[in-house]
This record gives sequence, C-alpha cells and structure tokens, in this order.
Amino acid sequence: LEQTYDVVVIGGGGAGLSAAVEAQSSGAKVVLLEKMSSLGGNTLVSGGGLNVPGTKQQKALGIEDSVELFIEDTMNGGDNINKKELVTVIAKNALPTTEWLVNEINVEFMPDRLQQFGGHSVPRALISKNNHGTELIRKLKAYGDKLGVEFKMETRAEELIMDNNRVVGVKAKNAAGQEIIFNANKGVIIATGGFGANKEMRVKYDPDKDDKYKTTDVSGTTGDGIIMAEKLGADLMHMEYIQTYPTCNPKTGIISYVANSRFDGAVLLNQEGKRFVEEMDRRDVISKAILEQTNNEAYLIWGQEIEEVGNMTKVHEDEYKVFEKMDLIYKADTLEELAKHFEVDKDNLLASIEKYNRFVENGKDEDFNRRGKLRTIEKGPFYIQKVAPAIHHTMGGIVINEDAKVLDNKGKVIEGLFAAGEVTGGIHGTNRLGGNAVTDVIVFGRIAGQKVVE
Ligand code: ADP
Repeated sequence: LEQTYDVVVIGGGGAGLSAAVEAQSSGAKVVLLEKMSSLGGNTLVSGGGLNVPGTKQQKALGIEDSVELFIEDTMNGGDNINKKELVTVIAKNALPTTEWLVNEINVEFMPDRLQQFGGHSVPRALISKNNHGTELIRKLKAYGDKLGVEFKMETRAEELIMDNNRVVGVKAKNAAGQEIIFNANKGVIIATGGFGANKEMRVKYDPDKDDKYKTTDVSGTTGDGIIMAEKLGADLMHMEYIQTYPTCNPKTGIISYVANSRFDGAVLLNQEGKRFVEEMDRRDVISKAILEQTNNEAYLIWGQEIEEVGNMTKVHEDEYKVFEKMDLIYKADTLEELAKHFEVDKDNLLASIEKYNRFVENGKDEDFNRRGKLRTIEKGPFYIQKVAPAIHHTMGGIVINEDAKVLDNKGKVIEGLFAAGEVTGGIHGTNRLGGNAVTDVIVFGRIAGQKVVE
C-alpha cells in the first residue's frame, strides 16, 4: 500500500494538529498519522494553560509583563542551558499565536482568569475553557476537518524514508498490521511527543526515573519520533532531563488539577504537619522535597479564601470525586478534622497554618519567601489533599533550529524533516515551567507547518 501527500505529520497532539492545520491552510495536501485510537496526546490531558505575555487579561488586571521577562523566567527555570534562540521564538510568537487560536481556531479562554505557575514572576498563563486540553484539541481537529486534513487513526509511524539525503516519506502500520508507505512530496513533521511513558527509555537516560515513579503521561508517549529521527542521524540533546510533576494522584500518577489550588495559595505540609518547601518553587525542587518527606507524600491545605479564587474543586469536580472515592481528599469545617483524617500531627498543623496566616497578614513568608499572591487559610470549609510526584515531561529530544528543521550532529539541516513539540529538545533546559509546553507546542507546530511548504 502506498499513498502520496505533500506533507506527512506524525502524531496528533497539540503540535501535530497545529502543524497539519497550518500546512493544509497554505493549500498543501496533508495527512496526519496517529497511532492511538483518539487524538490529543499529552496536550489533551493538560490543563490547557499557555503562557503569553501582553494579553488583554494581563492588561485588565494591571499586570506588567514583557517578552523579555518571559524569556528570562524561562531561562532561569531551565538553569540557563536552554537554547535561547528557541525560547525567544516562543516568547515572541506567544501573543500572535494566541490571537490565531482565538480568531481562527475559535479556542475559548477563561476571560478573567490568569494563573501564575511556579517559576514565573507574574501571572501570565491563559487557561482554556474548562481548564482542560480538550478545548484546544477539539477545536484544532474541527478546523483541520473543515480544511480537509486527512486523519489516519491507529496508524503507527515506524520508519522515516530517506532518498538522496532527503526525507521523502514514512513507513507506517495500520490497526490491521498492514504496512503503508506515506510519500511526502514536501516533507515530514515529527510531533510524536515525549517519552515519559517509556520506562526503558527513561532509565537509559536517567537511571533514577524507574518504576518508583508513576506517570501523568498518556500511553502513546513512548519516544517513537526520537528513535526514528536518531536512526537518520538527527542530533538529540538534554535527554537526561526528565521532569516530575509534584502534585499528582499518589495511587495512579494522574496529574491533579484540583491541586493547582496551590497556585492560588494552598500550602504544602508533610505528615508531621510542617511546611518544607516554597509552594511556588520549580517542579523539580518541589518534587524532590516531597520525596524526602515521610511516605514520599505531602498534603495540600486550603480554605475558602483560596478556593474562591479558582474554584478548583468545582471546575475539576470529576477529578475531585475520584480523589474523594480513593480517600485522597477530605473536606471539613475545621483544621483539626483535616489533621485527624489523614493522621497528620494536629498541633504542628495548627501551628503551621497559624504562622502562615501571620505571614500573609504581614505580606511576607518569612520561612520560604513564597512568591505570588499570599492568601490566608482561616475560612472553612477547608480541604486537605494527599499528593505525590509523577513523571510528567521529557525536556530532551530532537535538536531543531528556529524554523523547526531537524539538525544532525554537525548542525546541518536534514532536508525534508521537521519536528515540533515535546519531541524536541533544548527549549526548556533542565526544567520546563508550567504553561510553557502548550506555548511551545502550538508556536513550533505552526512554524513547522509553515516552513514545510515553503
Ligand atoms: P505534543 O504536545 O508535542 O503535541 P502530545 O503528547 O500532545 O505531544 O502528542 C503526541 C501524539 O503523537 C500522541 O497522540 C501520540 O499517541 C502520537 N504518537 C506517538 N508516537 C507515534 C507514532 N509512532 N506514530 C503515530 N503517532 C504517534
């Protein structure tokens, strides 16, 4: 079996969909291959938040931000080993890309909600409708359908085809196990996501990231694109940087969005009822700190002052119910009851919260110098939620240039080959900041889709 298109996109998450839509918009004939039976990848299960400096939401709230500050935060968050020219591409394109998402793709963002994720110096994350990646994926898919992008589900790309030093197609297998050759007249875009769900591959690059970790990632993120590109001589970088998300379901590894009440002010305590880390610190720092606590777990505590900001238990009601059923979250009128429920040291818990409330009143967290808006925990009912870290994002991957073209280990472009999204390396350095994946994925997905047809 053999089929011919202008562009073959591998992977139907945020990057692949953005690339496919852009390429098809310019008149090219595009096919998108997705190995799973549904689209979306890790983008689908994300909170659908993306960092954008200079939005109308920021202006309405009087928040001063700039492309430069966004670059600086991102570089600091990645220990300054990020490829700055790529970070700059994301920062500069964030706003026009958002306008494209809103005006062309019809994506809805919460009109008056901005989140400040860890490591960012100001609130700059727009949050998709329902605080979920489904909004992005559904709208991109609908737009792709309208344009006539062909979607081949349960079709796994297995090998890139080279001819005369140029990538000219993809060998794939469909659900029936038949091999299909997809010829690409103009080029191939790899958008297969990271390798968080592939334990062997994780351990190969970082022996610590073994079975002791569960993962937030969907099962399709097994590094296929990285392996295929490496076979052709593509350069890889930063493969050893594998991020854990600090506040996941300790039993399943699934990311908790209710726990993002942390960004509105919830505090983290250990089994002994003591704070142990700055709640707004980087994901790697908080994850490591949690793993050093009793049972390798921690508790988030908050009350109505914080709940009322983002209403996380309501916005994510389905998740809340799951946590409740698994006895991982508990709501009560008093802090004493919270402590008792999970056998957290009651006196310490009360003392920690009382001390914290004093810090809030004085406007400064004397113990951990917490960033972001400080809010008291005085008004019940209160919540306590048990959380633990899980594998979340692989920073390393295929080396690309500013045009999303794949480079070999001499820095030379591999003709006909593009990559975008989590499959690429170098953009986030040692540690990706919250809300930067979606910005990266959509910005570079679009660039790949534009450049492939040039
Ligand atoms: P990104 O955020 O970079 O777009 P995602 O994780 O959202 O990454 O999406 C990656 C998608 O690629 C997933 O839907 C995954 O199932 C798909 N995928 C991974 N490997 C292959 C492959 N070999 N062939 C086709 N699709 C793949």
